[in-house]
Amino acid sequence: MKVTCIGTGSSGNCFYVESELGTGVFFDAGCPPTKILDLGISIANKPFYVTHEHGDHAKYALELQDKYGAIIYCSDLTFDALNLCKKCSVQRLKDFYPKKKCYVQGIKVIHNAADPCAFYADIDDERMLYIADAGSPPELPEDIAPDVLIVEANYTPKRMAGNAEKSDSMLYVSGRVSSGVGHLSAREAAQLIEPYLDYADLIILFHQSENNFDYTEYYNDMEISDTFKAKAQFAKPGMTWNSIPF
Ligand SMILES: [Zn+2]
Ligand SMILES: [Zn+2]
Repeated sequence: MKVTCIGTGSSGNCFYVESELGTGVFFDAGCPPTKILDLGISIANKPFYVTHEHGDHAKYALELQDKYGAIIYCSDLTFDALNLCKKCSVQRLKDFYPKKKCYVQGIKVIHNAADPCAFYADIDDERMLYIADAGSPPELPEDIAPDVLIVEANYTPKRMAGNAEKSDSMLYVSGRVSSGVGHLSAREAAQLIEPYLDYADLIILFHQSENNFDYTEYYNDMEISDTFKAKAQFAKPGMTWNSIPF
């Protein structure tokens, strides 16, 4: 499985995942279509699974659909919030690549949006989990076995607490982020991924906050295992990973 980060963080999130057999799927639509095309990735007739309606995840969904022929999938309430055509829905996922195997399942997450979800996908027998904004680690189905995990790790607790003391606006941001309907901390992301750590081929952490994520704190955090730190990688726009070397 090949993973490309098109964008990560509050300026816009979008990932492209392609199986070894060439089935391509996007997660989130928070980056301009030109940024995707500039990376040599085609858009027409490809599915975009949008986690929720916030701009950094869905700002370009309508444009991708209307001007570039992308097919947008998200929960019904997210569709309402986005005002997209209602012909597409998560239920149609199984029809999308009829000759190939591509199943994508929505998983409920808690976040301050209409009906946010994470996605578990089986693409040509390669399995992956994509979790974007989530106020707390979501309850995951018991039978999943992701080879690739792309998970939000938004902040480190000490840095955020320190920032909250500096000003009222930072205190407000901190309260919103860590309120249980905001974002996942690096520690929460690690706890969530831990059960899959041994056999996962690729672990990507994304959506790091510019102000509230301290890499030194992350590497010194005793509650995150060294095995996890050695394996997990941070996403940057334009980066590509191969979970199984081609
Ligand atoms: Zn959000
Ligand atoms: Zn976000």
